[in-house]
Amino acid sequence: MSLRPPADSPAASPAIVKTRDALRAAIQAARAQGKSIGVVPTMGALHAGHLSLIEASRRECDFTIVTIFVNPTQFGPHEDFQRYPRTLEADVAAIRRVGADVVFAPELSELYGPQHATFVEMHGVAEPLEGSSRPGHFRGVATIVLKLFNLTAPDRAYFGQKDYQQTLVVRRLVADLDLPIEIRVCPIVREADGLAMSSRNAYLSATEREQALALGRSLNGAAELTAAGERDAETILAAMRQVLRQSPGVELEYLVLVDPDNLAPVAKLTKTTLAAVAAKVGKTRLIDNHLLSAG
Ligand code: AMP
Repeated sequence: MSLRPPADSPAASPAIVKTRDALRAAIQAARAQGKSIGVVPTMGALHAGHLSLIEASRRECDFTIVTIFVNPTQFGPHEDFQRYPRTLEADVAAIRRVGADVVFAPELSELYGPQHATFVEMHGVAEPLEGSSRPGHFRGVATIVLKLFNLTAPDRAYFGQKDYQQTLVVRRLVADLDLPIEIRVCPIVREADGLAMSSRNAYLSATEREQALALGRSLNGAAELTAAGERDAETILAAMRQVLRQSPGVELEYLVLVDPDNLAPVAKLTKTTLAAVAAKVGKTRLIDNHLLSAG
């Protein structure tokens, strides 16, 4: 039986852990008490989207670990690894408000020693969309997620639909490598005006932030067309492109309607279909998506 206070009671103050040894000790103690373990992998700069994952873990698991690590191997050479926001103090304060048991915030050298030479290479769902826009990205994601799963041995792990393709990659990882971990996917949390929350939104100027709303607007438009009975992918995509074109600062990278199981393009919507978009707004790369109900 769990001794953990319910998630709506005064939040558990997390232990801040920097080393793998200290993490393993905390997990061993939790396991010895028969607790189930949930892990929420993040790169920090936490917002309400991240916190919703932590809350889900708190509801479903006895012991919640939040990892905060800006993983260099998932960034391309010309991407924003160096300037990615690092806000550990504020992150810990936010986690304290929702509650968690451990925050694992290792230094780079704790997870990647100078001799590091092993990576997880994934084909299939890791190849299109983000995979081709960001070569090597999912190799880095799969590698760090496997390492974090090995370190935390969780019962469940929590990811956001915001990074839809990443959830497919993680599901493939646990299936292919026989990891006994349940993957839970939580809905996209948005700002009041519809912008999908993202740590990278901090890069946007006020004008860019306004222009970025076109992404969510185009997805909403697609959902409305689908709800009204439209089933032709090209018609829906054309309407979405038109919305995006109205926002001058938005430079489209991809805009697709695909099968949510395997990311194969669809011509006619015969079942739930993933609308996914990636665009640069100024120098900031944003992604968003929506599952269109077309049963
Ligand atoms: P990140 O820190 O960007 O690596 O994200 C950590 C986790 O939070 C990933 O599983 C993301 O999909 C998830 N996440 C990021 N933004 C949102 C959001 N707006 N709503 C829900 N989950 C999110």
